[in-house]
Amino acid sequence: MTELAPGSTIGILGGGQLGRMLSVAASRLGYRCHVYEPAAAPAGDVAHAVTNAPYEDQAALRAFAESVDVITYEFENVPTAALDLLESIRPIRPNRRALAVSQDRLTEKDFLAGIGLRTAPYRNVETEADLPAALADLGAPAILKTRRMGYDGKGQIRFRDTDQRDWTGVPSVLEGFVDFTAEISVIVARGADGQVAAYDPGLNVHREGILRTTTVPCGLPASLLTDAVLMAARIVNALDYVGVMGVELFVTPQGLVVNEIAPRVHNSGHWTQAGCAVDQFEQHIRAVAGLPLGDGQRYADVEMENLIGDDMARLPELLRKPRVQVHLYGKGEARPGRKMGHVNRLL
Ligand code: AMP
Repeated sequence: MTELAPGSTIGILGGGQLGRMLSVAASRLGYRCHVYEPAAAPAGDVAHAVTNAPYEDQAALRAFAESVDVITYEFENVPTAALDLLESIRPIRPNRRALAVSQDRLTEKDFLAGIGLRTAPYRNVETEADLPAALADLGAPAILKTRRMGYDGKGQIRFRDTDQRDWTGVPSVLEGFVDFTAEISVIVARGADGQVAAYDPGLNVHREGILRTTTVPCGLPASLLTDAVLMAARIVNALDYVGVMGVELFVTPQGLVVNEIAPRVHNSGHWTQAGCAVDQFEQHIRAVAGLPLGDGQRYADVEMENLIGDDMARLPELLRKPRVQVHLYGKGEARPGRKMGHVNRLL
């Protein structure tokens, strides 16, 4: 792949905070971004151009694709028909296989198991009628997750005993409960030339299914972290991937278990903005533009904390703190559970 010349335009599907931070990183490298987003969204404030149209609007999709040199995305749930149309006009990076694998939890788990990585034990629960057998098989506790469109713990039901009968209403997977000691993630990148670079794994703490903090270094043994990075590399190589990927892992006494993969920049990689010369956003833009990757080296210890809903009330105090970098997404109302921004604290 040839390098994208400065002044070229990168199309981004999705206009949330990830699209916003990708647009800023792209502009630093001399590129323009055209954001495609059905709703009014944070990336529109900083991008060169915005298309506000639904993913079913073929004329808008076509005009968008024709106005850009390459297409990437900040969320993985773009409808297949829209992707088919876009891909007939411009290349999409990361590729369609990565999207197909991560759009469906069952396909994702089959893929991970197929390349020899451990996942939670799982069963396909296509309809409600499949649930009793799956629960009997895996035992309780277990978690039922919708196969598609789940994020931040949404679309999940916990089963405390095998007699419990709840249903998501859509095809799902039942996962056996993983008794983990910690959750970590690897932000890994693969360039168009196959070069792979990973950042140090971060320790993730969730509350109510939403990421609260990521801390690096994560305090786990070096051998475990090497394993985590090698697993992430195996995933991006198997997918012939180009771009940044977030790989979430559970740490258990028996070793690492892959929870899920996100074919995009990831919330648990925001710390790289304060810890690395080339952060995850620039890294992703470099990859999709065919430029050499940054090396992923970390120069500082960092704790990233999400500012969710009411946390915005702490802003005056956070702005007064030394060694704290504040990032706000330009969202209007600070509703409960809504990610409004984040801070990176140098430790
Ligand atoms: P997910 O949306 O799949 O990342 O799940 C959200 C959070 O729920 C994870 O970060 C874990 O804290 C927890 N969780 C998800 N799946 C499992 C599992 N199989 N066993 C234990 N905890 C889980």
